Amino acid sequence: MKRLTLVLSAVFALGFGLPLAATLLATDPVDLDAIYRIKDEGLQVQRSKVMDIESYLTDVYGPRLTGSPEIREAADWAMKTMKEWGLANVHAENWPFGRGWQNQRFVAMALTPRAYPLIAYPKAWTPGTNGPVTGEAVLAIIQTDQDLETWRGKLRGKFVLTAAVPNVNPQFDAPGRRLTDAELADVSKQPQVNVGRGRGPGGGPNALQAQQTFQRKRAQFFVDEGVVALIDPSPGSGGTVFVQGPANVSYDPKAPLQAPQVVMAVEQYGRIARTLEKNVPVTLQMDIQSTFLDTTLTSFNIVGEIAGTDKADEVVMLGAHFDSWHAGTGATDNAAGAAVMLEAMRILKQSGLKPRRTVRLGLWTGEEQGLLGSRAYVKEHFADRTTMQLKPEHAKLDAYFNLDNGTGVIRGVYLQGNEGVAPIFEAWMEPFHNVGMATLAIRNTGGTDHLSFDEVGLPGFQFIQDPIEYDTRTHHSNMDVFERVQANDMMRNAVIVAAFVYDAANRDDKLPRKPLPRPAAPPATQAR
Ligand SMILES: [Zn+2]
Repeated sequence: MKRLTLVLSAVFALGFGLPLAATLLATDPVDLDAIYRIKDEGLQVQRSKVMDIESYLTDVYGPRLTGSPEIREAADWAMKTMKEWGLANVHAENWPFGRGWQNQRFVAMALTPRAYPLIAYPKAWTPGTNGPVTGEAVLAIIQTDQDLETWRGKLRGKFVLTAAVPNVNPQFDAPGRRLTDAELADVSKQPQVNVGRGRGPGGGPNALQAQQTFQRKRAQFFVDEGVVALIDPSPGSGGTVFVQGPANVSYDPKAPLQAPQVVMAVEQYGRIARTLEKNVPVTLQMDIQSTFLDTTLTSFNIVGEIAGTDKADEVVMLGAHFDSWHAGTGATDNAAGAAVMLEAMRILKQSGLKPRRTVRLGLWTGEEQGLLGSRAYVKEHFADRTTMQLKPEHAKLDAYFNLDNGTGVIRGVYLQGNEGVAPIFEAWMEPFHNVGMATLAIRNTGGTDHLSFDEVGLPGFQFIQDPIEYDTRTHHSNMDVFERVQANDMMRNAVIVAAFVYDAANRDDKLPRKPLPRPAAPPATQAR
């Protein structure tokens, strides 16, 4: 179906009836010699560096929470490495963020009625306990003003279990998988729009505001009551703990402190709660040392280039977010994307190919806090989203390619509604049909840094990837670690990205663009 559509649009657009392949070759010849050299450098185990980069970014320097000392060390290593490869113009560009945070120590045990170690992690940007603290656990589910009154004066020195014990279902489906042909066919179709009227559940902005007000009141209540720590059950199971920051986190050094907060493996949370239900007291001990870092309130993006030749003033960008959450080492989210993009740059440089346009890598931080780094970069270089005032560089950027969906091999590209690029990408994918990359999705995909470019009318694209274990196991969890990263997929991804970037850099014309959007405030984005 997809091919048929393309043949028809190509025929109508060009006004003659050549077969699709001939049409595409006529308009977008792929330099197969260059593709050979890219594959040769990137697919040989002895020469590929992608898993070596991945190991540095995770095992040595991970996790890479925005504003933490770890991410700065990781950035120093990445920039040093880029310089060793001979990349040009390697530097960091600062942007205002807020306070950093680092956890130095976390120990959690149940002491009575039985002693056992607990699998748990502190939420980012919550304070520590000021040394080891022992106290009783209590289940206190607080969702209304009435609940606040019920529990007032009863929680001092307690570990508060904040939610009912979740159901844990058997895992009949394998956690890891590849996209099926049927799923890829579905992704390639225009999605159904929701034509239902009304705002749907949630009740609109007033209800949201009321909820946020109550959350702030609840957070202050726990501080005033003097709880030791709040404990949430992890939404994962099998020892996997998904943990980010508190819902109403603030990076402002002047914001009021919250109580220490912890996410615990659901099975142990359940054991404690079920013991309490039998009126058997449970004593816990935790030692949480966490530090707020207020000396540097900026974060940064990392940039590096391969200079172009006859079109050097025009730029093709590739990028990925460099930051992660903190419980694992941020291996699939998003050391995988950053390592692939770094390796793509290394391949292009090492292969000796000469891109006509300048190729520029951007590694962003603050993605997990809402695409903050890439939006700051786009505003600084290309356009202000709110006013749609364009800077001169806006006209010079050809395209931006992003990777942020874990370790899985690339199966295609999301077009973000830009149908003009479909026949071009179709031609560029041809040499990668044999690794399963053959799908163009007209639909948008959200949640990551290509949006920062797309929302100011620049061609920004995110690749379609096999999910592997992304949503089931690794994404924002303590199991986002090196072992979950697949070397073959990573090597292929670096080669595909290098080829796409080279194709774009050496094309006679820049890629077609969508019409410019009207000025608007950027929407709050739920980051991936
Ligand atoms: Zn993420």
